[in-house]
Amino acid sequence: MRLEGKVALVTGASRGIGRAIALALAKEGCDVVLVDLDEPAAQRVAREVETLGRRALPVKANVASLADVQRAVALTVEKFGRLDILVNNAGIIKRGTLEDHSDADWELVISVNLRGTYYFSREAAKIMKRQGWGRIINISSVAGKIGDITSAPSYGPSKAAVNALTKSLARELAPFGITVNAVAPHAIETEMTAEWSEERRRALIAQIPLGRMGKPEEVAAAVVFLASPEASFITGEILDVNGGYLMD
Ligand code: NAP
Repeated sequence: MRLEGKVALVTGASRGIGRAIALALAKEGCDVVLVDLDEPAAQRVAREVETLGRRALPVKANVASLADVQRAVALTVEKFGRLDILVNNAGIIKRGTLEDHSDADWELVISVNLRGTYYFSREAAKIMKRQGWGRIINISSVAGKIGDITSAPSYGPSKAAVNALTKSLARELAPFGITVNAVAPHAIETEMTAEWSEERRRALIAQIPLGRMGKPEEVAAAVVFLASPEASFITGEILDVNGGYLMD
């Protein structure tokens, strides 16, 4: 196991990509803190982590609330004594045209996707600096590079800002032994993409060279790599997991 004894905190861990990341990190030897709004679902994933032989701590928290974020990090240190790997995965999308998109939707998407990533990175970095080692991995999106393709005016900007935050923090935290990277998925089979019509799905798949949608486990594998010793000289990278949809 490549991450034996490490403590990881994953946000939005109760389903989809976050759940897959939590389980993949547990398989590599991590104890895992599972942060989510949906407590019963986080508890179910915690039991899956424990079945893999690792310790788990489900925490009900809103990533956009500083008090919740501070409590989640404090509970992590209280239970496990450290925090080695932070995965900022929780994210939302609100669809609509520019004119339909309400100010409330704009605020919500920016506060969850960007402010949540900022809050957790800041609070986790305090612990990681003391340890002299840490890995922060942000789940971005292809939309952060090319804008959203399904009409969601705040989603692409929130993820573009996550990419810039990733690079800014990578420079700032490098002297402390902390790497900061992002994974930019596209078209992964989760509840977020379940609402796509069959027609839209076929049209999107037609633009993906590998000819299919991705699985949450394929995003999780990229996260495990970025957390692993093999990625020790990689920081500030935005790693595409998109079936070849965007090659930049
Ligand atoms: P998902 O199935 O909708 O899961 C998102 C998870 O985040 C849910 O468990 C949700 O909790 C949690 N969450 C939402 N807001 C939260 C908040 N304020 N505080 C704490 N937890 C919160 O989404 P997914 O497809 O797995 O996406 C995961 C990440 O990948 C997101 O950042 C997304 O933008 C990114 N991404 C996904 C795709 C894709 O094709 N699926 C593509 C590119 C990027 P609840 O269950 O309580 O709502």
